[in-house]
Amino acid sequence: MYHPDVLQDRWQGRWASPQACPALVLNADYTPLSYYPLSLWSWQDAIKATFLERVDVIAQYDREIRSPSFAMRLPSVVALRQYVKPSTHPAFTRFNLFLRDRFTCQYCGSPHELTFDHVVPRAYGGRTSWTNVTTACAPCNLRKGGRTPAEAHMLPRQRPFQPTSHQLQENGRGFPPHYCHETWRDYLYWDVELEA
Ligand SMILES: [Zn+2]
Repeated sequence: MYHPDVLQDRWQGRWASPQACPALVLNADYTPLSYYPLSLWSWQDAIKATFLERVDVIAQYDREIRSPSFAMRLPSVVALRQYVKPSTHPAFTRFNLFLRDRFTCQYCGSPHELTFDHVVPRAYGGRTSWTNVTTACAPCNLRKGGRTPAEAHMLPRQRPFQPTSHQLQENGRGFPPHYCHETWRDYLYWDVELEA
C-alpha cells in the first residue's frame, strides 16, 4: 500500500516539476539535507531564506523574478549557513522503517503492497519498535499471521535494527528522483561512494 513509487510521485507532484523551480537544500558542508525524499524547497521558501541570510545561493536558474525595483534569478541550489547536525537516532516512522528496509519485503523481497510485520507477534509480547518491526508485503504478512518466525518458518532477511541517520541517508541514495536539475548533480551522489 506504500509502494516507493507512490511516495515518490506524491512528492514529485508537489515539488519536482521543472516549472516549480525547486531549490536543492544543502547542509553547511554542501551535502544534501536528505536524499530521499530529496531535500527541496519551493522557490518562494528559498528566496525568503536568502533574504533572512540563512542560506547562501550556490547556483541559479535562468528564470528571474522581478519587481519594479529589483530582479533576481531563482536559486537552484542553496546551502545552509549553519550546519544542522543530523539526529543520531532517526524517528521511528513508517517512512523511515521502509527506508531502512529499502522498500522491500524482508521475507520475499517484493516491493509491492508493503506493510509492517511484528517479527515477534504482539500476542507473544513483541514490541512495536525498531528491533521488532520489519517491512513485509501483504501476502507474506498474511501468510505469517500471528506466528513467530520459527513457527511460520519465515525468517526476515535482515534482523530488525535501529538505523543511524547515516544508514538511512545511504539507503536514500538508492532512490534517485525522476527530475534532477543539472545544477544539482555536483552535490548528489547516487550510489557512488562519497569516501572513495
Ligand atoms: Zn513478501
